[in-house]
Amino acid sequence: MVYGNFLFFINLSFLLLMRANPTIPLRKDRNECPSCGLLFRSSYAFDKHRTGRYGIDRRCKSIEAMLASGMEEGSGGFWISAPLLARRGLKGILGGEGH
Ligand SMILES: [Zn+2]
Repeated sequence: MVYGNFLFFINLSFLLLMRANPTIPLRKDRNECPSCGLLFRSSYAFDKHRTGRYGIDRRCKSIEAMLASGMEEGSGGFWISAPLLARRGLKGILGGEGH
């Protein structure tokens, strides 16, 4: 029995180590990239973060490529697929960044 508990402990530790941010709970549609460990607000945002063809050259986009595609790091370090429309509107009112 002791041996069985030990194996259970090892398995549990392994599952926790699989995540890059084991202390951050993933609620609702939030998720973590198993390859690079970045956090995403939605599975849609995660999909946007991945590029290439399945089984051939599927990979993570660089931070630069993510920013270039309109993605943005939101609150809590969770990336979003695009800035909120309200925020974009506010930027427009305040003069924005001109692009
Ligand atoms: Zn990734």
